[in-house]
Amino acid sequence: MWAEYRRKKLRLLVLLFGWTPFGVLLGAGLPVIFGSYVPSYALAIAYALVLAYTFLQYMLYACPNCGHSFRGKQLRKEACPNCGIEINR
Ligand SMILES: [Zn+2]
Repeated sequence: MWAEYRRKKLRLLVLLFGWTPFGVLLGAGLPVIFGSYVPSYALAIAYALVLAYTFLQYMLYACPNCGHSFRGKQLRKEACPNCGIEINR
């Protein structure tokens, strides 16, 4: 029931914590390979778009019990604000 929710949450956490090593790669590695920062800018923008999309998917996740969007309230509460089912249990 909550497998997809957990998958989205894990993807968001991996993207959030993966930004630092990816940023190092963009700032130090790619300019050496390509001789320019342009590929780094393009990949940084693509990463930010994927991160924003994943963030929205997680925040707007629909409760599997009642179908209402959590709208970010799962960060503060452990139960669905509409039907009261415990989130991720
Ligand atoms: Zn609900």
